[in-house]
Amino acid sequence: MQATQEAVTFGGLVLRSETLRAIHTMGWQQPTPIQAQVIPVMLEGRDLVGQAQTGSGKTGAFGIPLIERIDPQTRDLQALVLVPTRELALQVSDEVRALGRGRGIKVVTLFGGQAIERQFADLRRHPHIAVATPGRLLDHMRRSTVSLGKVRTVVLDEADRMLDMGFLPDVTLILNAVPGQRQTALFSATIPAEIRTIANRQMQNPVSVRIAAPAPTVDTVEQFYVEVAEEDKVKALRRLLQEEAIESALVFRRTKHRADRLATTLGRHHRVGVIHGGMRQGARLSALRAFVERRTPILVATNVASRGLDLPEVSHVINFDVPEDMETYIHRVGRTARMGRPGTAITLVGQHDTAMLDELRRKLGPSFKRHRLNIYAR
Ligand code: AMP
Repeated sequence: MQATQEAVTFGGLVLRSETLRAIHTMGWQQPTPIQAQVIPVMLEGRDLVGQAQTGSGKTGAFGIPLIERIDPQTRDLQALVLVPTRELALQVSDEVRALGRGRGIKVVTLFGGQAIERQFADLRRHPHIAVATPGRLLDHMRRSTVSLGKVRTVVLDEADRMLDMGFLPDVTLILNAVPGQRQTALFSATIPAEIRTIANRQMQNPVSVRIAAPAPTVDTVEQFYVEVAEEDKVKALRRLLQEEAIESALVFRRTKHRADRLATTLGRHHRVGVIHGGMRQGARLSALRAFVERRTPILVATNVASRGLDLPEVSHVINFDVPEDMETYIHRVGRTARMGRPGTAITLVGQHDTAMLDELRRKLGPSFKRHRLNIYAR
Protein backbone atom coordinates (compact mmCIF):
# COMPACT_ATOMS: atom_id res chain seq x y z
CA MET A 1 0.00 0.00 0.00
CA GLN A 2 1.24 3.41 -0.84
CA ALA A 3 1.04 6.13 1.75
CA THR A 4 0.73 9.01 -0.63
CA GLN A 5 -0.45 11.44 2.03
CA GLU A 6 2.47 10.93 4.31
CA ALA A 7 5.27 13.48 4.33
CA VAL A 8 8.47 12.11 2.87
CA THR A 9 10.64 14.82 4.33
CA PHE A 10 10.66 17.07 7.35
CA GLY A 11 10.86 20.48 5.70
CA GLY A 12 13.16 19.03 3.05
CA LEU A 13 15.18 16.83 5.42
CA VAL A 14 15.14 13.24 4.24
CA LEU A 15 14.55 10.95 7.23
CA ARG A 16 13.43 7.39 7.87
CA SER A 17 9.69 6.90 7.62
CA GLU A 18 9.46 5.83 11.29
CA THR A 19 11.16 9.05 12.37
CA LEU A 20 8.90 11.15 10.13
CA ARG A 21 5.92 9.45 11.66
CA ALA A 22 7.19 10.16 15.19
CA ILE A 23 7.74 13.82 14.28
CA HIS A 24 4.25 13.96 12.84
CA THR A 25 2.81 12.45 16.02
CA MET A 26 4.56 15.15 18.05
CA GLY A 27 2.78 17.72 15.94
CA TRP A 28 5.91 19.29 14.49
CA GLN A 29 5.27 20.47 10.96
CA GLN A 30 8.44 22.30 10.06
CA PRO A 31 11.95 22.19 11.47
CA THR A 32 12.85 25.12 13.70
CA PRO A 33 15.83 27.20 12.45
CA ILE A 34 18.28 25.32 14.63
CA GLN A 35 16.89 21.98 13.51
CA ALA A 36 17.21 22.97 9.86
CA GLN A 37 20.88 23.77 10.43
CA VAL A 38 21.93 21.08 12.88
CA ILE A 39 20.19 17.96 11.56
CA PRO A 40 22.03 17.72 8.19
CA VAL A 41 25.41 18.33 9.82
CA MET A 42 24.85 15.71 12.51
CA LEU A 43 23.46 13.21 10.01
CA GLU A 44 26.79 13.44 8.20
CA GLY A 45 28.50 12.47 11.43
CA ARG A 46 30.33 15.75 11.85
CA ASP A 47 31.18 17.38 15.17
CA LEU A 48 29.18 20.45 16.02
CA VAL A 49 29.06 23.37 18.43
CA GLY A 50 25.57 24.80 18.61
CA GLN A 51 24.80 28.02 20.36
CA ALA A 52 21.12 27.96 21.15
CA GLN A 53 18.70 28.53 23.96
CA THR A 54 16.17 26.20 25.41
CA GLY A 55 12.93 26.75 23.55
CA SER A 56 14.63 26.79 20.14
CA GLY A 57 13.91 23.13 19.52
CA LYS A 58 17.48 22.05 20.22
CA THR A 59 16.48 18.71 21.74
CA GLY A 60 14.90 17.73 18.44
CA ALA A 61 17.92 19.17 16.62
CA PHE A 62 20.22 16.58 18.15
CA GLY A 63 17.53 14.00 18.98
CA ILE A 64 16.45 13.42 15.39
CA PRO A 65 19.93 12.70 13.96
CA LEU A 66 20.80 10.70 17.07
CA ILE A 67 17.82 8.42 16.45
CA GLU A 68 18.54 8.19 12.73
CA ARG A 69 22.07 6.95 13.37
CA ILE A 70 21.19 4.26 15.92
CA ASP A 71 21.18 0.62 14.88
CA PRO A 72 18.45 -0.98 17.00
CA GLN A 73 19.49 -4.49 15.88
CA THR A 74 22.52 -4.48 18.18
CA ARG A 75 22.39 -4.47 21.95
CA ASP A 76 25.09 -1.82 22.25
CA LEU A 77 24.86 1.52 23.98
CA GLN A 78 25.57 3.74 20.97
CA ALA A 79 24.84 7.28 22.09
CA LEU A 80 25.22 9.37 25.19
CA VAL A 81 23.57 12.67 26.04
CA LEU A 82 25.02 14.52 29.05
CA VAL A 83 22.82 17.09 30.73
CA PRO A 84 23.26 19.22 33.86
CA THR A 85 20.09 18.39 35.80
CA ARG A 86 17.70 15.64 36.56
CA GLU A 87 14.77 17.64 35.19
CA LEU A 88 16.51 18.12 31.88
CA ALA A 89 17.51 14.43 31.82
CA LEU A 90 13.85 13.48 32.09
CA GLN A 91 12.71 16.00 29.51
CA VAL A 92 15.36 15.02 26.98
CA SER A 93 14.74 11.30 27.51
CA ASP A 94 11.03 11.72 26.97
CA GLU A 95 11.58 13.51 23.69
CA VAL A 96 14.28 11.16 22.40
CA ARG A 97 12.23 8.13 23.43
CA ALA A 98 9.21 9.47 21.57
CA LEU A 99 11.32 10.06 18.46
CA GLY A 100 12.79 6.55 18.55
CA ARG A 101 9.83 4.48 19.61
CA GLY A 102 8.85 3.44 16.08
CA ARG A 103 12.19 1.69 15.61
CA GLY A 104 12.35 0.00 18.99
CA ILE A 105 15.13 2.23 20.24
CA LYS A 106 15.60 2.02 24.00
CA VAL A 107 16.59 5.01 26.08
CA VAL A 108 17.83 4.88 29.67
CA THR A 109 17.79 7.90 31.99
CA LEU A 110 20.54 8.07 34.61
CA PHE A 111 20.55 10.77 37.25
CA GLY A 112 21.44 11.23 40.88
CA GLY A 113 18.70 11.12 43.46
CA GLN A 114 17.03 8.04 42.04
CA ALA A 115 17.74 4.58 43.49
CA ILE A 116 20.75 3.27 41.61
CA GLU A 117 19.37 -0.30 41.69
CA ARG A 118 16.50 0.71 39.48
CA GLN A 119 19.02 2.07 37.00
CA PHE A 120 21.00 -1.22 37.13
CA ALA A 121 17.84 -2.96 35.96
CA ASP A 122 17.28 -0.41 33.18
CA LEU A 123 20.88 -0.79 32.04
CA ARG A 124 20.56 -4.58 31.86
CA ARG A 125 17.83 -4.14 29.24
CA HIS A 126 20.51 -3.06 26.73
CA PRO A 127 19.52 0.54 26.01
CA HIS A 128 20.81 2.12 22.81
CA ILE A 129 20.90 5.67 24.18
CA ALA A 130 21.71 6.96 27.67
CA VAL A 131 20.65 10.40 28.84
CA ALA A 132 22.62 11.13 31.98
CA THR A 133 23.85 13.66 34.47
CA PRO A 134 27.65 13.44 34.70
CA GLY A 135 27.93 12.46 38.39
CA ARG A 136 25.60 9.50 38.19
CA LEU A 137 27.07 8.28 34.93
CA LEU A 138 30.56 8.30 36.49
CA ASP A 139 29.14 6.34 39.40
CA HIS A 140 27.88 3.68 36.98
CA MET A 141 31.20 3.67 35.12
CA ARG A 142 33.07 3.04 38.39
CA ARG A 143 30.72 0.18 39.24
CA SER A 144 31.07 -1.18 35.69
CA THR A 145 27.31 -1.19 35.31
CA VAL A 146 27.61 0.77 32.08
CA SER A 147 30.04 0.36 29.22
CA LEU A 148 30.86 3.20 26.88
CA GLY A 149 33.04 1.15 24.54
CA LYS A 150 30.51 1.18 21.69
CA VAL A 151 29.37 4.78 22.03
CA ARG A 152 29.66 6.57 18.69
CA THR A 153 27.86 9.83 19.42
CA VAL A 154 28.07 12.09 22.46
CA VAL A 155 25.92 15.18 22.97
CA LEU A 156 26.74 17.72 25.68
CA ASP A 157 23.56 19.63 26.31
CA GLU A 158 23.57 22.98 28.12
CA ALA A 159 27.32 22.84 28.47
CA ASP A 160 27.47 26.28 30.10
CA ARG A 161 25.23 25.12 32.91
CA MET A 162 27.35 22.00 33.38
CA LEU A 163 30.29 24.39 33.68
CA ASP A 164 28.43 26.59 36.20
CA MET A 165 27.57 23.56 38.27
CA GLY A 166 31.17 22.36 38.37
CA PHE A 167 30.64 19.27 36.18
CA LEU A 168 33.34 19.97 33.61
CA PRO A 169 35.98 17.69 35.19
CA ASP A 170 33.42 14.85 35.24
CA VAL A 171 32.47 15.56 31.64
CA THR A 172 36.12 15.37 30.63
CA LEU A 173 36.57 12.03 32.44
CA ILE A 174 33.51 10.67 30.64
CA LEU A 175 34.64 11.90 27.22
CA ASN A 176 38.02 10.31 27.78
CA ALA A 177 36.29 6.97 28.36
CA VAL A 178 34.42 7.10 25.04
CA PRO A 179 36.25 5.81 21.95
CA GLY A 180 38.00 8.59 20.03
CA GLN A 181 36.26 7.61 16.80
CA ARG A 182 33.05 9.34 17.65
CA GLN A 183 30.81 12.24 16.86
CA THR A 184 30.64 14.95 19.52
CA ALA A 185 28.03 17.69 19.55
CA LEU A 186 27.91 20.45 22.13
CA PHE A 187 25.03 22.82 22.80
CA SER A 188 25.28 25.86 24.98
CA ALA A 189 23.44 29.16 25.37
CA THR A 190 26.76 30.95 25.81
CA ILE A 191 30.25 29.83 24.83
CA PRO A 192 32.68 30.92 27.56
CA ALA A 193 36.41 30.18 27.23
CA GLU A 194 36.24 26.91 29.20
CA ILE A 195 33.61 25.55 26.82
CA ARG A 196 35.68 26.65 23.84
CA THR A 197 38.64 24.74 25.33
CA ILE A 198 36.58 21.54 25.67
CA ALA A 199 35.44 21.96 22.08
CA ASN A 200 39.03 22.37 20.88
CA ARG A 201 40.34 19.41 22.85
CA GLN A 202 37.50 16.97 22.42
CA MET A 203 36.16 17.70 18.97
CA GLN A 204 37.43 17.42 15.45
CA ASN A 205 36.94 20.36 13.18
CA PRO A 206 33.47 21.16 14.55
CA VAL A 207 30.89 23.03 12.53
CA SER A 208 29.59 26.06 14.42
CA VAL A 209 25.90 26.83 14.36
CA ARG A 210 24.55 29.87 16.03
CA ILE A 211 20.92 30.75 16.42
CA ALA A 212 20.47 34.19 17.85
CA ALA A 213 18.42 34.12 21.02
CA PRO A 214 14.95 35.18 20.09
CA ALA A 215 14.94 38.70 21.49
CA PRO A 216 12.34 39.05 24.24
CA THR A 217 11.45 42.36 22.67
CA VAL A 218 9.74 40.68 19.74
CA ASP A 219 6.07 41.36 19.25
CA THR A 220 5.06 38.11 20.88
CA VAL A 221 6.12 39.15 24.41
CA GLU A 222 4.38 42.09 25.95
CA GLN A 223 6.70 43.59 28.53
CA PHE A 224 5.46 45.77 31.35
CA TYR A 225 6.65 47.19 34.61
CA VAL A 226 4.70 48.29 37.64
CA GLU A 227 6.20 50.76 40.09
CA VAL A 228 5.09 49.69 43.53
CA ALA A 229 6.52 49.99 47.04
CA GLU A 230 8.29 46.82 48.13
CA GLU A 231 5.79 46.25 50.94
CA ASP A 232 2.86 46.46 48.51
CA LYS A 233 4.17 43.96 46.00
CA VAL A 234 2.04 41.09 47.28
CA LYS A 235 -1.04 43.22 46.89
CA ALA A 236 0.02 44.21 43.38
CA LEU A 237 0.68 40.62 42.42
CA ARG A 238 -2.68 39.46 43.73
CA ARG A 239 -4.41 42.15 41.79
CA LEU A 240 -2.53 41.19 38.63
CA LEU A 241 -3.49 37.56 39.12
CA GLN A 242 -7.13 38.60 39.22
CA GLU A 243 -7.09 41.18 36.45
CA GLU A 244 -4.86 39.56 33.89
CA ALA A 245 -6.67 36.25 33.38
CA ILE A 246 -3.42 34.51 34.17
CA GLU A 247 -3.40 30.88 33.08
CA SER A 248 0.05 30.03 34.25
CA ALA A 249 2.61 32.30 35.81
CA LEU A 250 6.20 31.91 36.77
CA VAL A 251 6.93 34.35 39.57
CA PHE A 252 10.63 35.02 40.11
CA ARG A 253 12.29 35.81 43.41
CA ARG A 254 15.94 36.36 44.16
CA THR A 255 16.45 34.00 47.07
CA LYS A 256 15.00 30.70 48.15
CA HIS A 257 13.78 32.14 51.45
CA ARG A 258 11.90 34.90 49.71
CA ALA A 259 10.48 32.37 47.27
CA ASP A 260 9.25 30.14 50.10
CA ARG A 261 7.77 33.09 51.95
CA LEU A 262 5.90 34.38 48.92
CA ALA A 263 4.59 30.91 48.08
CA THR A 264 3.23 30.57 51.61
CA THR A 265 1.55 33.98 51.50
CA LEU A 266 0.02 33.46 48.07
CA GLY A 267 -0.91 29.91 48.98
CA ARG A 268 -3.64 31.22 51.27
CA HIS A 269 -5.64 32.32 48.25
CA HIS A 270 -4.17 30.63 45.18
CA ARG A 271 -2.87 27.28 44.04
CA VAL A 272 0.86 27.90 44.20
CA GLY A 273 4.02 25.83 43.92
CA VAL A 274 7.61 26.74 44.60
CA ILE A 275 10.89 25.64 43.01
CA HIS A 276 14.40 26.58 44.05
CA GLY A 277 17.87 25.16 44.43
CA GLY A 278 17.46 24.55 48.17
CA MET A 279 14.86 21.85 47.56
CA ARG A 280 15.58 18.18 47.14
CA GLN A 281 15.44 17.00 43.57
CA GLY A 282 12.29 14.95 44.11
CA ALA A 283 10.49 17.97 45.51
CA ARG A 284 11.67 20.16 42.61
CA LEU A 285 10.47 17.62 40.13
CA SER A 286 7.04 17.24 41.68
CA ALA A 287 6.67 21.04 41.85
CA LEU A 288 7.52 21.17 38.16
CA ARG A 289 5.07 18.39 37.32
CA ALA A 290 2.26 20.04 39.30
CA PHE A 291 2.90 23.26 37.40
CA VAL A 292 3.08 21.62 33.99
CA GLU A 293 -0.12 19.74 34.72
CA ARG A 294 -1.72 23.00 35.94
CA ARG A 295 -2.51 21.65 39.37
CA THR A 296 -0.61 24.69 40.65
CA PRO A 297 -0.84 27.25 37.85
CA ILE A 298 1.44 29.64 39.72
CA LEU A 299 5.05 28.68 40.36
CA VAL A 300 7.33 30.82 42.49
CA ALA A 301 10.90 30.26 41.38
CA THR A 302 14.44 31.43 41.88
CA ASN A 303 16.83 31.77 38.98
CA VAL A 304 17.54 28.03 38.98
CA ALA A 305 14.32 27.62 37.08
CA SER A 306 14.96 30.43 34.64
CA ARG A 307 17.45 28.38 32.68
CA GLY A 308 17.14 25.09 31.01
CA LEU A 309 13.80 23.79 32.17
CA ASP A 310 11.22 23.24 29.50
CA LEU A 311 8.15 24.82 30.99
CA PRO A 312 5.56 24.78 28.26
CA GLU A 313 2.97 27.46 27.65
CA VAL A 314 3.72 29.90 30.42
CA SER A 315 1.37 32.78 29.77
CA HIS A 316 3.03 35.14 32.25
CA VAL A 317 6.45 35.74 33.69
CA ILE A 318 6.38 37.99 36.73
CA ASN A 319 9.55 39.45 38.16
CA PHE A 320 8.50 39.92 41.76
CA ASP A 321 12.08 40.91 42.52
CA VAL A 322 13.77 42.80 39.71
CA PRO A 323 16.41 40.65 38.04
CA GLU A 324 20.05 41.32 38.95
CA ASP A 325 21.08 42.09 35.41
CA MET A 326 19.95 42.16 31.82
CA GLU A 327 21.01 38.60 31.11
CA THR A 328 18.88 37.29 33.98
CA TYR A 329 15.99 39.38 32.74
CA ILE A 330 16.26 37.84 29.29
CA HIS A 331 16.52 34.31 30.67
CA ARG A 332 13.47 34.81 32.84
CA VAL A 333 11.38 36.46 30.16
CA GLY A 334 12.44 33.71 27.77
CA ARG A 335 10.09 31.42 29.71
CA THR A 336 7.10 32.95 27.97
CA ALA A 337 6.10 33.42 24.35
CA ARG A 338 8.07 30.36 23.28
CA MET A 339 7.71 28.91 19.83
CA GLY A 340 5.85 32.02 18.76
CA ARG A 341 3.07 31.81 21.33
CA PRO A 342 2.01 35.12 22.87
CA GLY A 343 3.16 35.91 26.39
CA THR A 344 3.37 38.67 28.95
CA ALA A 345 6.22 39.66 31.24
CA ILE A 346 5.58 41.99 34.16
CA THR A 347 8.35 43.38 36.37
CA LEU A 348 7.47 44.78 39.79
CA VAL A 349 9.83 47.68 40.42
CA GLY A 350 10.25 48.65 44.08
CA GLN A 351 11.55 51.88 45.55
CA HIS A 352 15.12 50.53 45.64
CA ASP A 353 15.14 49.29 42.06
CA THR A 354 15.27 52.52 40.12
CA ALA A 355 18.77 51.93 38.74
CA MET A 356 17.68 48.60 37.26
CA LEU A 357 14.50 50.16 35.94
CA ASP A 358 16.58 52.77 34.12
CA GLU A 359 18.76 50.09 32.61
CA LEU A 360 15.79 48.00 31.50
CA ARG A 361 14.14 51.05 29.98
CA ARG A 362 17.31 52.01 28.16
CA LYS A 363 17.99 48.53 26.79
CA LEU A 364 14.43 47.52 25.96
CA GLY A 365 13.24 50.83 24.62
CA PRO A 366 9.60 51.66 24.01
CA SER A 367 8.50 48.02 24.01
CA PHE A 368 8.96 48.09 27.81
CA LYS A 369 5.78 49.78 28.95
CA ARG A 370 4.31 51.00 32.19
CA HIS A 371 1.44 48.72 33.21
CA ARG A 372 -1.91 50.37 33.80
CA LEU A 373 -2.27 48.65 37.17
CA ASN A 374 -2.32 51.14 40.00
CA ILE A 375 -2.99 49.63 43.37
CA TYR A 376 -3.02 53.03 45.00
CA ALA A 377 -5.89 54.33 42.88
CA ARG A 378 -9.30 54.13 44.40
P1 AMP B 1 13.63 22.65 23.24
O1 AMP B 1 14.35 23.87 22.77
O2 AMP B 1 14.24 21.42 22.73
O3 AMP B 1 13.45 22.66 24.74
O4 AMP B 1 12.16 22.65 22.59
C1 AMP B 1 11.19 23.58 22.95
C2 AMP B 1 9.78 23.10 22.62
O5 AMP B 1 9.54 23.15 21.23
C3 AMP B 1 9.47 21.68 23.03
O6 AMP B 1 8.22 21.67 23.67
C4 AMP B 1 9.43 20.91 21.73
O7 AMP B 1 8.54 19.82 21.80
C5 AMP B 1 8.94 21.94 20.75
N1 AMP B 1 9.44 21.73 19.37
C6 AMP B 1 10.66 21.28 19.01
N2 AMP B 1 10.78 21.23 17.67
C7 AMP B 1 9.62 21.67 17.16
C8 AMP B 1 9.13 21.86 15.81
N3 AMP B 1 9.88 21.58 14.74
N4 AMP B 1 7.87 22.33 15.67
C9 AMP B 1 7.11 22.62 16.75
N5 AMP B 1 7.51 22.45 18.04
C10 AMP B 1 8.75 21.99 18.24
